[in-house]
Amino acid sequence: MECIFCKIIAGEIPCYKVYEDDKFLAFLDIYPVNPGHVLVIPKEHHDNIFTLPNEIASQYFVVVKRIAEIVKNTMNADGINIGMNNLSAAGQVVFHSHIHVIPRFSGDGLNHWGNRDINESEMSLIADKMKGFIK
Ligand code: 5GP
Ligand code: ZN
Repeated sequence: MECIFCKIIAGEIPCYKVYEDDKFLAFLDIYPVNPGHVLVIPKEHHDNIFTLPNEIASQYFVVVKRIAEIVKNTMNADGINIGMNNLSAAGQVVFHSHIHVIPRFSGDGLNHWGNRDINESEMSLIADKMKGFIK
């Protein structure tokens, strides 16, 4: 077993645990974006959102919502970012699916994602293409 997060679940690597139930675990990120940055993970190993079974996915956000409330209240945060990096190109480094719950503070200096120029016809083409994939 090479997965760091599976080792955390198994208790082989220590963590600052915040929440646990039979299916999910939440713990402090070791390199927090801000203090109070929590990772929420399913106990079952799945690499990313694309391999996550729907049954787990459907319960996941309910847990994430609870953690978001806990993080906001505990850290007295002004806002919360919830994010999930999927695959290397998106910045995923640990390949055990995880959702970041990050407390944000007014004026904390963190920047939002940038944006690209795009014209109306490209937008329309993309939306049509996406709709074509929906079964
Ligand atoms: P990713 O870029 O894959 O979405 O984020 C992985 C996150 O896991 C990073 O924010 C990193 O700080 C965190 N992380 C990596 N290894 C450990 C660890 O051993 N313990 C904890 N608590 N967090 C970790
Ligand atoms: Zn794992």
